[in-house]
Amino acid sequence: MIDFRVEPDFQAKLDWMDTFVRDECETMDLLFPGLTYDVKHAKSRAHLKPLQAQVKAQGLWACHLGEHLGGPGYGQVKLALMNEILGRSSWAPTVFGTAAPDTGNAEILAMFGTTEQKSRYLAPLMAGEIVSAFSMTEPQGGADPTEFTCSASMDGNEWVIEGEKWFTSNAKHAAFLIVMAVTNPENPPHSRMSMFIVDAATPGIEILRNVATVGESPDEGSHAYIRYNAVRVPADAMLGGAGEGFKVAQARLGGGRIHHAMRSVGRCRRAIDMMLERAVSRRTRGRKLGDHQFVQGLIADSEIQLEQFRMLVLKTAWLIDEVEAGREPHGKARHHIAMCKVAMASVMQDIIGRAVQLHGSLGITYETFLGPFWAGVSALAFADGPTDVHRAQIARTMMKATKPVDGLFPSEHIPTRLAAARERYPEA
Ligand SMILES: Cc1cc2nc3c(=O)[nH]c(=O)nc-3n(C[C@H](O)[C@H](O)[C@H](O)COP(=O)(O)OP(=O)(O)OC[C@H]3O[C@@H](n4cnc5c(N)ncnc54)[C@H](O)[C@@H]3O)c2cc1C
Repeated sequence: MIDFRVEPDFQAKLDWMDTFVRDECETMDLLFPGLTYDVKHAKSRAHLKPLQAQVKAQGLWACHLGEHLGGPGYGQVKLALMNEILGRSSWAPTVFGTAAPDTGNAEILAMFGTTEQKSRYLAPLMAGEIVSAFSMTEPQGGADPTEFTCSASMDGNEWVIEGEKWFTSNAKHAAFLIVMAVTNPENPPHSRMSMFIVDAATPGIEILRNVATVGESPDEGSHAYIRYNAVRVPADAMLGGAGEGFKVAQARLGGGRIHHAMRSVGRCRRAIDMMLERAVSRRTRGRKLGDHQFVQGLIADSEIQLEQFRMLVLKTAWLIDEVEAGREPHGKARHHIAMCKVAMASVMQDIIGRAVQLHGSLGITYETFLGPFWAGVSALAFADGPTDVHRAQIARTMMKATKPVDGLFPSEHIPTRLAAARERYPEA
């Protein structure tokens, strides 16, 4: 049975979130832009804490973890509806304890961490006291782990990490980094790496520069190019088993991708709201902007595209819930997660692009959120892996499940099918 209604109790929570995000989180976006990860910024943290307390009182804090990982276990469909609301604001995920990459890091700590690792890293992370970073991509190998060269080798009872990582987001604010390094070069490609939890204060971690993406200040960005100079960590700093780095990374990426997609829905909704307001407010050539058919086309195309994407995201969320409940086999949602990842970047590019267009010169400034969002759209095509890799994966999965035709012509060849039909029903 397909039913798109939302239970009244949960709808009441969503309504509370919607008002709170518009009133409080969007206000934080205005007062403290770009400070979401800076736990040492006293003013923004002082403003943040009471808001987080309100979220906790509503039972809406850090909802991303399933029950089996110690979270409230809302399930992905409910998370989709919640994340749509959070997607409106840059601060909202921090206010609700669901900011990436901390969410993904929390997930793998909950899944693979030892009791000691959980109490040392997961507990303060879940409490919102610290932030963390995920250090996987390399300057040469990109995010393809089979090309990684950053390595860790045993010396006495310590691992020594040596090599470079690229685009480790928020490393400058992180209390710890989760670093992927080659430990077993002799193994098959996907079991050569292991994951390590590295305290940010460990000697030898050198941030070569904090790379800025377009839209950030060019002098100081948030994505660290890091050199690990013989960084020594104890043997028990490994997260998961030796050679399990790829498995651990995969465990965090699925959730990351789908949650980005859910939040993108909210961002696009906000852009469409802005298009609508502009269309009914501004006049040109004696008519409202929205009375011109080209403008109507931009609005209609955006609404159709967003609704299609939203349905894909919700179906994917439902599939993940089915897999977690054991009603669908492990991996069943992968194909849909990949589709969400690919669609997200192009849907956002189209919708935010159209909203920018309707706002003219104002659209490309810092005077609305559209300009910075638009500048950041391409990043979504790369964060958590380039979309092309996912496009290829989608097609490969489908082709693997497809049988080649036996004869010379396609199975849909009308003369061949007609001949078979006539043989079956000679009287017709
Ligand atoms: C905003 C943002 C935040 C990020 N945060 C983090 C982080 O916290 N930690 C981290 O480790 N990394 C992070 N990354 C890095 C991210 O994972 C990589 O950017 C991404 O995986 C792509 O790697 P690359 O940038 O080296 O591009 P490349 O791998 O060089 O890809 C460039 C292009 O090459 C083509 N291509 C590459 N591989 C294939 C393939 N297999 N098949 C077909 N075509 C291909 C595609 O056209 C692709 O767009 C972040 C990236 C962004 C944009």
